[in-house]
Formats: sequence, C-alpha cells, structure tokens
Amino acid sequence: MDSASGKTGVIVTDVQGDFTTWKEGSLAVNGADQAFVHKVQNATETLAKKGCLIFGIQDWHPADHVSFFTNHPGKNAFEVIKIEGRTQILWPPHCIQGTENARILVDNNLFMAIVKKGKDPRYDSYSGFQDDGGTETEMDSILKRNGIEKVIVYGLATDYCVKATAIDAANAGYKVTVVEGLCRGVAPDTTESALKELKDRGVTILKEL
Ligand SMILES: [Zn+2]
Repeated sequence: MDSASGKTGVIVTDVQGDFTTWKEGSLAVNGADQAFVHKVQNATETLAKKGCLIFGIQDWHPADHVSFFTNHPGKNAFEVIKIEGRTQILWPPHCIQGTENARILVDNNLFMAIVKKGKDPRYDSYSGFQDDGGTETEMDSILKRNGIEKVIVYGLATDYCVKATAIDAANAGYKVTVVEGLCRGVAPDTTESALKELKDRGVTILKEL
C-alpha cells in the first residue's frame, strides 16, 4: 500500500449511526458496534498520517425516499419489489437528512470531502459514485482532481454500499482495495458472495490493513 505518492484515496463508506448497533440504528448491521467504529476511526487516522486523502460517503435520504418500506403502503421492511424494472429492497427508514443518526461517526475533520448519496427521493444509491437512476455523484471528479489512482474502501455494509462503491471505483479505472476487517455485512451469505464478486472483478481484498 504505497501512499508515498499521495495518490491513494480512502473511501469511508456509510459509517453512520443508523447502520450501527452502537447507536441503536434503525438499520443496524451486525457487529457494527462501538469497538468497530473506533477501529475504523483509528485506521482512518493512521491512513491520513501516512498521506492518504480521506473521503467520506454519507447516505442522505429525504423522508419520502423510495427505499423506505413506510412509503409503500402494505409493504414490510426487507420486502423486495420492482420499481420501473429495478429491484428495490425496502428498508426501514434510515439516514434521514439532518437527523442525529445520519451523522458520520468518524471524526469529520479527517475528511477532505464528504459525498452525500441517495438524495433523490426516486432512486436508491448503494454506490458512492452513482444512484440507481444513473446520476453520478461528484466522487469521481473529486478523486480525479486530487490525482487519486488507488482507492481503499471500507465501512458499512460489505454486501451493499461497500460492494457497490468498490465495483464502481474499479469500473472507473481505480486500483481498488477493500479491507474486510474494517467492514461489516448485513448477512453472512450476501457478504461472502460480495467478497467473491469483488475478487472476480479484480478488487484486492485485505483481511486487515
Ligand atoms: Zn439508504
């Protein structure tokens, strides 16, 4: 992990209260406890000291967001529906703009930029690069502007937003590493298949930093 060139970016993905058991989040990921968040905090500080540029991704939904089961009368949390041909998992309301549990739990002073995603009520957005409607965030242009060629991705959750962000980073031409020990997954089977898919797409999986 050569960061001496200053060309390595770190993408800290969705480390927000609603995804943690620590903050009793509405969509808490197994194992995303206080110790996990502190581990992510420490690792991010270490990478910043090594000269990596740190970026954050923040799930940031309006209250009427399409991914909330509460916006689909008669539907339950975790049901899977089709919307205009797209598969949509219905989640409990989470990371609503401006709420306490939408905050990023890693020290915000570490971030060069925070990219918000999922702002459009019509589209979900697991990836920090684009939403399900194909609208790109500013992530790629920020990385390019900063001369980033390699990215390290970790956070929550392995099988959804980390996976989607790492795949889009690889597709955008970055050399991508995912640090498994700095991620937690929603479910064991989807987490295992996510890691396999990432490897198949040329993403390097490190157990720990
Ligand atoms: Zn979301």
